[in-house]
Amino acid sequence: MNYELVIGLETHVELDTKSKIFCSCGGHSAANEPNDCVCPACSGMPGMLPVMNKRVVELAVTAGLMLNCEISRYTTFDKKNYYYPDLPCAYQITQLNHPICTNGCVSVKTSDGTRDIRIKQIHMEEDAGKLVHGGNHSYVDFNRTSVPLIEIVTQPDFRSAQEVVTYLNKLKSMFRSGGISECEEGAMRCDVNISVRPEGSEEFGVRTEIKNMSSFEAIEKAIHYESQRHIDAIEFETEELVQETRRYDDASGKTFAMRNKETEADYRYFPDANLMPIIIDDEWLEEIKANKPAAVDEKAEEYMAAGIGEEEIEMILSSQKLTKLLDDTIALGANPKDTAIWILTDCAGILRKDGKTLSDLSISSKDLAAIIKMVESGTVNRISGKKILIAVIEDGADPEKFCKENGLDKKVDTSMIDSVIDEAIKANPQAVADFKGGKTKAIQALFGACMKQLKGAGDPMVIKARLEEKMKEQ
Ligand code: ADP
Ligand code: MG
Ligand code: ZN
Repeated sequence: MNYELVIGLETHVELDTKSKIFCSCGGHSAANEPNDCVCPACSGMPGMLPVMNKRVVELAVTAGLMLNCEISRYTTFDKKNYYYPDLPCAYQITQLNHPICTNGCVSVKTSDGTRDIRIKQIHMEEDAGKLVHGGNHSYVDFNRTSVPLIEIVTQPDFRSAQEVVTYLNKLKSMFRSGGISECEEGAMRCDVNISVRPEGSEEFGVRTEIKNMSSFEAIEKAIHYESQRHIDAIEFETEELVQETRRYDDASGKTFAMRNKETEADYRYFPDANLMPIIIDDEWLEEIKANKPAAVDEKAEEYMAAGIGEEEIEMILSSQKLTKLLDDTIALGANPKDTAIWILTDCAGILRKDGKTLSDLSISSKDLAAIIKMVESGTVNRISGKKILIAVIEDGADPEKFCKENGLDKKVDTSMIDSVIDEAIKANPQAVADFKGGKTKAIQALFGACMKQLKGAGDPMVIKARLEEKMKEQ
């Protein structure tokens, strides 16, 4: 019999805020040592009260708008009670009864077609701390305690591991471009709920939940393993399937039972009376909408229409900084397709030489546009443009000034090119002889000598063509 996979995801995303969700401590990414971003509130000292971080609400609403959710105008917090050493209050502040966003939808495109994944809800909550085990001791680090999270819960709408990974990549690029989260390693964690059912069946099978997965590769492997385990259990009655929480072990590629699934009652949820309900009025909602960056899909279409390649679009949109640089440079009159290449190839190449990446790039759209336009208008050639770019990125040079001071914008007339070529030919009789003897590569040395003499001025294509002509005349 053929079986269909049914998967629902609960994805936790750490928000990029300056401070934690209920106190003014910096986020754990600001920490240098264990427990250096900790105060009486987030370490659970008796009598301390939480104070809501407004930015968390704004980012959660922005995420909800990106995922086509309804935004709740009245949203409240609840206490979820459980005891564990990484949770100093013995309860987590989360949202149960009135989550901030509900009923969203996001489309996921794979080689099998497009599927709409319904978003059940998005809620805000605080993260727990971390236990660090070493030697005979276990240590607790509260830096991550009360770091803001959103949890995005989907309906059981995925039908393959490929759809799951595509969805997660889409969330990641949306959240990066929207300034919601950089989604670095560990800042995006998933609980994967899996069941299988005979193809054509309307009923859901018994589900298991694999907790706390952060590598997409591992998620894919875990789904394959776990769904096969379900199918075997049903087909061959190898074991009885029970609803439970499992963990995935990367080394063996298998999942193991952790505990029976807790129910809501196990957590003794109750409203958190220390936090006022949050009311999102029209004015605030409009303000958040106005500040929301364009949806990734819209943007991608806009770039595609401007002739930028699919791979380049993906790279640009994965970073809010690069998206803004591209948009601003285009707004200043540079060609979109050229600009994408200048950023992703030229700028990236210059940074790579110093062991840096595009995330270290600091060039203003004004300088970048100036360089690209000089090349586009033929004021300087592509090679000189690159030289100017290097000077701007490495030394903070002014493009126009650097160009003038180094004579790069000199329109080179053909008589000057000719005389440089003639000199090069005279100075390299061996290369000329080799060329005439059939070693066409020998022309490279002469070309190099001419380029050096012209200091990058003049169009390389013109110089090359003229040089070939003259060599043939020898
Ligand atoms: P609970 O309250 O027990 O956590 P939820 O209704 O919140 O259950 O669902 C948790 C997640 O499990 C959701 O992402 C949902 O889509 C998914 N889910 C629910 N039923 C199934 C099923 N039969 N197979 C796979 N996933 C499921
Ligand atoms: Mg749940
Ligand atoms: Zn604190």
